[in-house]
Amino acid sequence: MNIKKGEFVVVGGGISGIAAAVEIAEFGNKVTLIEKEASLGGRVSKMSLYFPKLCPPYCGLEIYFKRIRSNPNIQIMTLSEVANISGTPGNFTVTVRQSPRYVNAKCTGCNDCVSACPVERPSDFDYSLSKTKAVYLPHELSFPYRYVIDDKTCPGAECGKCILACKYDAIDLGMKAESVELKADAVIVATGWKPYDAQKLTNLNYGKMSNLITNVMMERLAAPNGPTKGEILRPSDNKKVERVAFVQCAGSRDENHLPYCSAVCCTASLKQVSYVKEFNKEAQVSVFYIDLRVMGRNEDFLTKIKQHDGLKFVKGKVARITEDPDTKDVWVEAEDILSGAKHRERFDMAVLATGIEPSLSGEKTCLGEQDKYGFFGSGKDGIFHIGCCHTPSDVSACVKLANGAVLKAMQCVGGRA
Ligand SMILES: Cc1cc2nc3c(=O)[nH]c(=O)nc-3n(C[C@H](O)[C@H](O)[C@H](O)COP(=O)(O)OP(=O)(O)OC[C@H]3O[C@@H](n4cnc5c(N)ncnc54)[C@H](O)[C@@H]3O)c2cc1C
Ligand code: SF4
Ligand code: SF4
Repeated sequence: MNIKKGEFVVVGGGISGIAAAVEIAEFGNKVTLIEKEASLGGRVSKMSLYFPKLCPPYCGLEIYFKRIRSNPNIQIMTLSEVANISGTPGNFTVTVRQSPRYVNAKCTGCNDCVSACPVERPSDFDYSLSKTKAVYLPHELSFPYRYVIDDKTCPGAECGKCILACKYDAIDLGMKAESVELKADAVIVATGWKPYDAQKLTNLNYGKMSNLITNVMMERLAAPNGPTKGEILRPSDNKKVERVAFVQCAGSRDENHLPYCSAVCCTASLKQVSYVKEFNKEAQVSVFYIDLRVMGRNEDFLTKIKQHDGLKFVKGKVARITEDPDTKDVWVEAEDILSGAKHRERFDMAVLATGIEPSLSGEKTCLGEQDKYGFFGSGKDGIFHIGCCHTPSDVSACVKLANGAVLKAMQCVGGRA
């Protein structure tokens, strides 16, 4: 088949954007992958294991990174965002603003700068469950594998201790933001999702007690490269968890918050039940739910998880969560719809299954039209939206959407007839 080759821009370096960029490049096209953070991988890189197979997400990501490394058609721009898109299919101009990294390509990853740096900041990778220095490696499997300086916390040249510590002349505190113009036949947008802000769920009192965490934090607690090296310890006193509650639909399917189903959080909590049971097989776990929604072939996963001993499902929306001031235990209150009884139970720790919100919700963007929730519905002709910025989905659905968009994008080469 004779397919015309072109140039493309993919915005968002999570699993959706990576999948799209790799497929485009392997057809022989040029592609620039634009990522706003310092490393590729998006939310998936922060997961401990993937459902349904329960394998580490880096198995899949590493294969994609290898395909990127071996393909000269792909250019990566991290710390970058799109400022403007003009033109028509076959002839777009994309203006990209790249923030300074302050660490150049000479960085060998020796870590000497980190030992010298006096400034600490909360780690975004660990959802503030740990700290990094102002100069840091995004995480141990970061791609690109290069350190970065957080200019919101680093005082700059008045400190400069990292420069003295670096033997490779890799730190340049004078680096400036740059603006670059790229040509593109089509643009694929894959800007993903963010966890719903649990502090908006005022009846659940998130933020007012240490042992009430969110599902994304639970991924970090369970991860071998996380703040507790994979031990599920409750934040207040590092005690091994024995009684854990999962609170489903924390924000989702609620007219006052996210009126839609976030699609993945039931399966994600079932996966996290397996983290708890793997860590402490005597642990008692309760899942509070309205409906358990496991999509497609994940029904088998539900059946498998239900076989764990010490696992209870309570059908009822959680009305209140409070803290015992002496023990720091959490009390979860709900009405058990099946028995009609009020249910009040004490746990070491509770996990809110916070929903998926589009990452650009509430922000002005040139990347397309958003619906009232912030999801991209449609864009200009030649701009395609995939992954969780389009609809809440699991990884397998994201990759399928990416492949479809690649075919659509390649039809834009040379302009519409
Ligand atoms: C608790 C939890 C556990 C989960 N576990 C699983 C699981 O086990 N298996 C599974 O299949 N799915 C799981 N999921 C779903 C999975 O996280 C998503 O399917 C996946 O992250 C979607 O990838 P994405 O690339 O669309 O979005 P993201 O992962 O959000 O990636 C988007 C990327 O775009 C970047 N970006 C954002 N805005 C901009 C911008 N303006 N410019 C440039 N770049 C930008 C972001 O920094 C990010 O790198 C889970 C979800 C939750 C909530
Ligand atoms: S910036 Fe310099 S000191 Fe820091 S990790 Fe890189 S090479 Fe080492
Ligand atoms: S200049 Fe900034 S990054 Fe370097 S050591 Fe000082 S605070 Fe840390």
